[in-house]
Amino acid sequence: MQKIAVVGAGIIGLSTTLKLNQNGHNVELFSKDNPTETNSSYAGAIWDGTFKEGVYREWSEVSLLQYIHDAKSKDSGVTLKELLQVYRTEVPEPWFKNIVPMFQVISEKDKPYGTKEAHYYSVPHINPKKYLEFLFEKVSKANTIVYRELENLDELIEDFDIVINCSGLGARELVKDPTMYPVFGQLLLSDSINIEHSYMDDEDFTYYFSHEDHVVFGGVALKGKEFSKDQENISAEITQKVQKILPQFNESKISKIQTGVRPGRKSVRFETEFFENTTIIHNYGHEGLGYTYAWGCASSVVEKLK
Ligand SMILES: Cc1cc2nc3c(=O)[nH]c(=O)nc-3n(C[C@H](O)[C@H](O)[C@H](O)COP(=O)(O)OP(=O)(O)OC[C@H]3O[C@@H](n4cnc5c(N)ncnc54)[C@H](O)[C@@H]3O)c2cc1C
Repeated sequence: MQKIAVVGAGIIGLSTTLKLNQNGHNVELFSKDNPTETNSSYAGAIWDGTFKEGVYREWSEVSLLQYIHDAKSKDSGVTLKELLQVYRTEVPEPWFKNIVPMFQVISEKDKPYGTKEAHYYSVPHINPKKYLEFLFEKVSKANTIVYRELENLDELIEDFDIVINCSGLGARELVKDPTMYPVFGQLLLSDSINIEHSYMDDEDFTYYFSHEDHVVFGGVALKGKEFSKDQENISAEITQKVQKILPQFNESKISKIQTGVRPGRKSVRFETEFFENTTIIHNYGHEGLGYTYAWGCASSVVEKLK
């Protein structure tokens, strides 16, 4: 039996571990953080399959089907909710229109002001902390969990045949990847506002997603920044952007301000390296789309091991 180590207990490490379990492998999971304290737990988060091509589309599709499945479990934190997605330029109908429930193109007269195209459909909304807990409960039943900060993957080489590196932004230090960069994000959470549907405008990065018991409002993506001292101004900016779409939103509706860091990279590092007798599979750098790609990447890891 091959000895497998997974590094990382964010959405990428947990989904990878569970896919490995489904295919008969148990692993040792190394993480410096608890799953609910990883960057993954501070995400928005919805599945966002727009404009994906090639392997990114394949990964997105696998994840979409997994979330549709998980939405059937009431403890998962995944719900299928309606999203109004608007565009400032003309766009083709998306590749997933026959997979997501209720897809429709909004007619000319019903499009929000200033938009060229609008689509309305039901899409997985993932309440990150709840979903990570849901996954971790399964992970901890079948695998050994080691809370430890690794300085180097060499620490695992002697003891494992396969090491799967799902360390997110941590890869910058762990494998000295100079192409990794942080992308700071901030969300406003409200538990006192009712909205009819979620909303996303990629052009000016305005969005709100309705989870089971709260709504998140965003967003911001500050490339190269891990922290921002300017959180008050960022909150004011998000509030202003959202008010244009949702006039009833204001500061009194904000119950919490939440920040997180995306593991930025020009493209996901999904590749295999060989070191002495150990195979290393890198699976990190998902930037703002880790939830969208997670289950697809996890399936690709399993394929690599066949
Ligand atoms: C505000 C915000 C909104 C977002 N919205 C969405 C969205 O709507 N849809 C979407 O798809 N994505 C979204 N994302 C992006 C998504 O959250 C990330 O892509 C994803 O969380 C990355 O997951 P990860 O598991 O790679 O990294 P992480 O969650 O950072 O996990 C990394 C893991 O590696 C471990 N680790 C790192 N270094 C070491 C080390 N040296 N030794 C031991 N362990 C180590 C950590 O402890 C942790 O367990 C959003 C992100 C933010 C911040």
